[in-house]
Amino acid sequence: MSESRNQRQDSQGPTAEKVPDPAELRLTRQFAGQHLHPGRPASGFDLSGWQLMFDRGLFNPAPGQSHNIRRTAHLLKALGGGGADRGLLFAAGAHYFGCTYPVIRFGSPSQHQQWLPSLQTGRLIGCLAITEEGGGSGQSALATQVQAQADNLRLSGAKLFVTNAPVASVALVIASEWPQRGSLGLSAFLVPLDAPGVSVVPMNSMGLAGAPAGVVRLNDVCLPPSARLGAPGAGLAVMLSALRAERTALLSGFLGAAEFDLARCYQFLQSRFSVGQKSGAAVPQVLQHRLASIRCELAAAEALLDRGLDEVDHGGDALLWPAMVKKTVSETVASVADQIHQIYAGQGWLNLHESATAVLDTRAVLAASGTSEVMLNMIWSQLARTLTPLEFSTP
Ligand SMILES: Cc1cc2nc3c(=O)[nH]c(=O)nc-3n(C[C@H](O)[C@H](O)[C@H](O)COP(=O)(O)OP(=O)(O)OC[C@H]3O[C@@H](n4cnc5c(N)ncnc54)[C@H](O)[C@@H]3O)c2cc1C
Repeated sequence: MSESRNQRQDSQGPTAEKVPDPAELRLTRQFAGQHLHPGRPASGFDLSGWQLMFDRGLFNPAPGQSHNIRRTAHLLKALGGGGADRGLLFAAGAHYFGCTYPVIRFGSPSQHQQWLPSLQTGRLIGCLAITEEGGGSGQSALATQVQAQADNLRLSGAKLFVTNAPVASVALVIASEWPQRGSLGLSAFLVPLDAPGVSVVPMNSMGLAGAPAGVVRLNDVCLPPSARLGAPGAGLAVMLSALRAERTALLSGFLGAAEFDLARCYQFLQSRFSVGQKSGAAVPQVLQHRLASIRCELAAAEALLDRGLDEVDHGGDALLWPAMVKKTVSETVASVADQIHQIYAGQGWLNLHESATAVLDTRAVLAASGTSEVMLNMIWSQLARTLTPLEFSTP
């Protein structure tokens, strides 16, 4: 993420926090190296790492200032660059972009008062519950339904794959209020996970052990009207706002983590090829080129991420840029993890350098926040509106 853009603020107004300067980013990387890296590879949610991150104020704006997506993305990337576990970064991103940020954007003053102090300091963990058994790719026909009664709301349904659910206190739930209106009939609700009728069942997964996921069951849950986030029928806007932030910024931590892994891989190769040599044994050129090529892939993904953050800041197309960033960054970090794992060869198979963990962790993000196929659908639908056939003159 470029230096010039470091000087900008986002469009949330004059009170938006500045993005971190290079010194803050360096300190954040050092913090991750000292306090978050020793916990790798994670075998579960790292509550003490979580608290240290939030106690440091990483996701808690300074008094009188509001947080922004760009700042959070920079900090996540620095944490990844310092060696923080991908699961912890993913959990923090799901908490911030999937729950805290929509509360900031759509919450009433009393909802801000009720939720933000504890969400922004990490004392409460949040999650975003959209996906259902019928599939996460199409969200217009949700089976989770809400009925507004005279003085309360009643919510029933089940949500799958909810990141953080087993450790969270509150879920932002998207439900259908007027099923016949499709996506325009959706509404959003802040549901305390200890409310009567709510149960959470952890889901086993292949990777991202540090970001536990679960099924959230809602069995005729009775909520006060104040649980509604945004206006009735604003569920689509709330959901898209959260997904837009997630798709654009959540994987910045994974780009940082890929850079960390690249540096570690180079260290491994240097020691591997100096074994038994007098001095100056070179890493074979074919491997030097592999590392150089990985660096190019990361730089390209980072540049697109930076552009995506710009578009989000300046009210750019809500679907196109987040989809392009999500598709490109998720595929890049997965490809880089595969390549680095291959370089470790037998030591990779033994997961001695956590390269197998990285392969599985990065597989997860190919589906999270929407698959590449669904991102391509969005990109194409925007493209189809703007592409015009070229006119060729025949000689
Ligand atoms: C690590 C992880 C974290 C997650 N966190 C959350 C979370 O916090 N909250 C939450 O609500 N959900 C979460 N999810 C769910 C995620 O959003 C869904 O997995 C994703 O949207 C895909 O839905 P699905 O898995 O049901 O696949 P499906 O929708 O069933 O898709 C199956 C296949 O069909 C393809 N497909 C479907 N529709 C189309 C189409 N129209 N065009 C082309 N191809 C299509 C898909 O690309 C995919 O290959 C998470 C998932 C993962 C893996």
